[in-house]
Amino acid sequence: MPDTELHRLSPQRQALLEALEGALEGSNNEHLTALAIIDIRDFHELNRSFGSACGDAILSAINERLLQLPHDTFILHYLGNDEFGILLPKLKSPGFAVICAEQILALFKGVFEWQNHSLKITVNIGIAYNYANHIDANKLLLDTELALKHAKTSNQPYTMLGKNEQQSSDQLKWELLNNLHVAMQQDELELYYQPKLCINNPDNHQGAYAEALIRWPTADHGLIAPDITIPLIEHLGSELDLINWLVNTALKHLSEIGSSHKGGVSVNIPANSVTSKALYELVEQALALWDVEPNRLTLEITEDVLIKDKELAFDYLSKVRETGVRISIDDFGTGYSSLAYFKHIPADELKIDRFFVNNMLHNEGDRNIVKLIIDLAHAFNLDVVAEGVEDSETLDLLKSMGCDYAQGYLISRPIPYQDYLSWLKENHQF
Ligand code: C2E
Ligand code: CA
Ligand code: CA
Repeated sequence: MPDTELHRLSPQRQALLEALEGALEGSNNEHLTALAIIDIRDFHELNRSFGSACGDAILSAINERLLQLPHDTFILHYLGNDEFGILLPKLKSPGFAVICAEQILALFKGVFEWQNHSLKITVNIGIAYNYANHIDANKLLLDTELALKHAKTSNQPYTMLGKNEQQSSDQLKWELLNNLHVAMQQDELELYYQPKLCINNPDNHQGAYAEALIRWPTADHGLIAPDITIPLIEHLGSELDLINWLVNTALKHLSEIGSSHKGGVSVNIPANSVTSKALYELVEQALALWDVEPNRLTLEITEDVLIKDKELAFDYLSKVRETGVRISIDDFGTGYSSLAYFKHIPADELKIDRFFVNNMLHNEGDRNIVKLIIDLAHAFNLDVVAEGVEDSETLDLLKSMGCDYAQGYLISRPIPYQDYLSWLKENHQF
C-alpha cells in the first residue's frame, strides 16, 4: 500500500485496517469476513442542541450497548467522531450480515437518557464483505465507507456492498430468508419453555404452565432470538406455517409429558394472524391430533390487536374461546386500551408487561399500575401473570398484591424442552 494512503487514515482507522488484514489472512473458504461502520444520524445537531457533554455521554452509552454484542462475532473499534467500526470475521453467507445489522439496530430501539431528556438515537450502517479473491483490506474498508454513504443518502438503516455491487437491505433479507426457510423446512427451529409459576395458592397441584418461545439455532450465530426471526418469517409470509409448527410441537410435547401432568402451554400468535380463519382450523386440528384438552392451550395475543380492529378481533377471539382454548392478552399496559372494553373482553388472562414489573420496586407509578391491572383483571374474572420477575422482593410484592402467576428469570430462564422436563421433576410439578 502506498505510504501516502496510509497517512490519510486516522490512528483508529489504521488500527481497524490492521485488524481487518489479520482477519482476512486467517479467513478460509467457508467463511466471509465483513466490516460494518456505524454512523450516528444527526450527531452534530445533538452536540449543538445539548452541548458536547451530552454528545460524549451518548457516545459512551452507545459504546456500552455495542459491547453487549457477542465478542467473538462482533469486534468493536471506536473510529472517532460519531463512528464505530465492527469487524465480523466469520460469516457463513452475506445473508447473515443482515442478522448482524438487525442485532446492531436492535440496540438502538430504546431511548438514551441524558439528564432529564430521553433521546432517540438512530444510525446508518454500511457493510461490505470479502468474496472470491477479494481479500484486500484497503478495498474492503473503502467499500464499507461507500456502502455507508449509500445508506445515508438513500436513508436506509443499512446497505451492503459485496459481490453484486450495491445490495439493498431487501435483497439481503431474501438471502437470510432463504436460510431461515431451509431451517424451517428441515425442522431446525426449537421451542424453549419458560415456566409460569402459580403464586396465589401454594397448594396448587394443577400442574405447571409454561410459555413456549422459539429459537433458531445457527452454527455461526448461536441461538437467534425471536425479535429477529419473527419479522423475517412475516416477511416470508410464513406466519401460518410457523404457528402450525408451533402449536403442533407444543401440543406434542404436552401429550408426551402425559396426563399425570395437568398443566398447559402458551404460544404467541402474531398480530396479523389473529383474524385469519386458517388459524382456528389449524388449532382445532392440532388439538384433535394430539388429543389434548383445549383448555391446556393458551394463545397469547398482544393488546394492540384488540385496539386496531376491535370488532373483528373480538369476534374471532370469542369464537376461539368457545372451543375451550384460552386467550391471554400479552404485554398488557403498553397499548392504550380503553377501560370500556373490559366488559366484553374475550380473554382469560392478562400478562403485565415486564417493563412495569421490572421497575415496580423503585417506581411508585409503576407499582400503582401493576396493582391497578391486578385489581382490574380480577374484577373481570381474568387471571393475571406478571412477566419479567427477576428478584424475590418483586415476587413477594406481587404475591401481596394478589397476582396469580409469575414468570421471569428468578423462576427460570427459557430452557430447552429436555431441561424443562427436568425442571418439572425437580419442582414436583408432576
Ligand atoms: P414475550 O411474549 O413478551 O416473551 C417474553 C420475553 O421476555 C422472552 O424473550 C423472554 O426470554 C423474556 N424474559 C422472560 N423473563 C424475563 C426476565 O425476567 N427479564 C427479562 N429482561 N426478560 C425476560 P424472547 O424469547 O426473546 O421473546 C421475545 C418476543 O418474541 C416475545 O415476547 C414474543 O412476543 C416473541 N415470540 C417469542 N416466541 C414466539 C413465537 O413462537 N411466535 C411469535 N409469533 N412470537 C414469538
Ligand atoms: Ca408472550
Ligand atoms: Ca410479554
